[in-house]
Amino acid sequence: MAYEVYIDNIFVGYVDDANKFIEEFKEKRRKGIIPYFVNIYFDETRNVVEILTRKGRILRPLIVVKDGKPLLTKEHIEKLKRGEIKWSDLEKEGIIEWVDPAEEENLNVALYPEDIKEDTTHLELSSLVIFSIATSLVPFSNRNQSARLNRGVRPQRQAHAIYSLNFHNRFDTDISILYYPQYPITRTFSFNIFKDDYAIGQNVIVAVMTQEGYNIEDAIIMNKGSIDRGLFRSVYFRSYEIERLRYSGGLQDEITIPDPSVELYRGKDKYKNLEEDGIVAVESFVNPEEVLVGRISPPRFIGLTSESIATGLRKKDSSLTTGSGEEGWVDRVVITESNDGNLLVRIKLRDLRIPELGDKFSVRHGQKGVLGMIVDPSDMPWSSSGLVPDIIFSPAGIPSRETVGLLLELLAGKVGSLNGRYVDGTPWYGESEEELRKELLSLGFREDGTETLYNPLTGDEFKVKIFIGSIYYLRLKHMAKNKLQARATGPVTLLTRQPTEGKSKKGGLKFSEMEHEVLAAHGASILLREMYSSDDTTIYVCEKCGSLAVEDNIRNRVYCPICGETEKISKVKVSYAFNLLLNELISLGIWPKLKLDYKF
Ligand SMILES: [Zn+2]
Repeated sequence: MAYEVYIDNIFVGYVDDANKFIEEFKEKRRKGIIPYFVNIYFDETRNVVEILTRKGRILRPLIVVKDGKPLLTKEHIEKLKRGEIKWSDLEKEGIIEWVDPAEEENLNVALYPEDIKEDTTHLELSSLVIFSIATSLVPFSNRNQSARLNRGVRPQRQAHAIYSLNFHNRFDTDISILYYPQYPITRTFSFNIFKDDYAIGQNVIVAVMTQEGYNIEDAIIMNKGSIDRGLFRSVYFRSYEIERLRYSGGLQDEITIPDPSVELYRGKDKYKNLEEDGIVAVESFVNPEEVLVGRISPPRFIGLTSESIATGLRKKDSSLTTGSGEEGWVDRVVITESNDGNLLVRIKLRDLRIPELGDKFSVRHGQKGVLGMIVDPSDMPWSSSGLVPDIIFSPAGIPSRETVGLLLELLAGKVGSLNGRYVDGTPWYGESEEELRKELLSLGFREDGTETLYNPLTGDEFKVKIFIGSIYYLRLKHMAKNKLQARATGPVTLLTRQPTEGKSKKGGLKFSEMEHEVLAAHGASILLREMYSSDDTTIYVCEKCGSLAVEDNIRNRVYCPICGETEKISKVKVSYAFNLLLNELISLGIWPKLKLDYKF
């Protein structure tokens, strides 16, 4: 039987012996006659040979196994260490080859050398290769539940840090710089590779215990003394920009302090930080909704209202302002030119961010939580040596999440900080729990990492030993100050007349099913009605036929389009969204009938 051969899904010919052909092909690739990125495999469902050369396939390296033995030997590794050979030499010699997911289908890959059997074709370089770059930075991650690993990775990307050494010259939006970033005590092998970019948190002393209930539901308690000494202190930057636009007819915006005669003038107070040139002064403090750059736009000729014609054409204020809740010191002002050749002003605001209630923190094991309480150092528990924890973490967060890696990092961090060394927490290959326990014991501590702590409220010993150690904590970019928002009245959407959504649009707070249940459970029915009355409207319903009645304000009468003027037309208070639904149904040719039941 002959087998069809395809290159990138294009038929090229037949071969008699598919296996022999594939073997010869691979042999030539290992010798360098065929490029290393060309893959070949036998498609068992279609009984054809496929050769793949296209870009976009993901290749990964594997050690070639021949006659039950991996081609990579100890000699190779020694030579690599001494720098006598390079990775590329291993590729050239056919010891390591790159396979894509399709070719992998035909292979039999062993994870460890001792797993190699007769039919094994390749050996994995290391069990660590299943981790991504970010995941490989989590210490003892092989002890964590896999879903927690994915969650542990995200905080590392959101952590406050020094993301770039030239952050002073950059105009990024929404950036936080940590005052005192540290390297972690417990590290993995990949830390050495990404060392320059991996000071994203601080090593803190954590006690795993409950304290007065303020660390309920993943919340953490922080020591005020630590915060005062600069723990997790950071600076927040936000950038703004405005252009001096040109319009048709030679008209142009003007960057200046607007005078009260312009349309949409904001009041003298809002312009108080502007210098003569209409641009805010460096190092002045700007409050929310104050002007950063004053700009006047020429009157627009399209969309004129009768009012504007009557009052004459006026210039319009189109200044750049801070948003609601946005404040800070002016850190930098740059006057430059945009791509279109217009004058461009860029402003950077700086705001000091000291940890406050509601700010988000996380360890690298997917255990995130908000700051629930800031406690004076005198009200924090202490150990017999006088050590006061920086953070109190609830033990209730451990059993359900199965983050054993977190407990191990606490232990390893304790050993590391007591012994003045870094601990290797590389998954599978790092320091073992037994070794760490032994070392802790030799340092004069209990081997399980627990200690006697004293109750700050009574001065007594806690009856149980408290697990306390050092761990790498991250401050995440979600801060209470950026999210705080409330509203009494404000803008509504045009279509549904319901309040707008989102902080930037001064939106209403969402009150949905679960919140509804809470009020219902308390029997607060009138309050509940009020909650849903944000788009109240009155409609008229004909009780005879159930259709919407027409309110004629000009002739001052109400009538049913079907039954005409009748006595039985009632006023009903409904939400405007419901009225909209009725009207949309009518527009579809559906006749909604309302059956009124109860009146009061
Ligand atoms: Zn009717």
